[in-house]
Amino acid sequence: MAPKCGMCDKPATTQCEQCGMPLCEEHMTHGIQFRTNNPTIHCPNCESNITRLTKRIILVLTIGLIIGVIFLIWYLDSVFYLF
Ligand SMILES: [Zn+2]
Ligand SMILES: [Zn+2]
Repeated sequence: MAPKCGMCDKPATTQCEQCGMPLCEEHMTHGIQFRTNNPTIHCPNCESNITRLTKRIILVLTIGLIIGVIFLIWYLDSVFYLF
């Protein structure tokens, strides 16, 4: 007897690498890969957690970049009197 998918009643073919939930073909999602060539398999729950985390990292980086650009302009302005 094959294990059932955690999201529906179809037989599971694989499992989530994050939480170990059994998943069918339909519900398995390939996660974002960091430093690995092997595609990681995640359930929709873990996938949304990872996506949220990634979005937060991108937001922080964007804010950091904007602050960096402002400081760069301010620095160049004080050195070269651009404005
Ligand atoms: Zn399923
Ligand atoms: Zn999971």
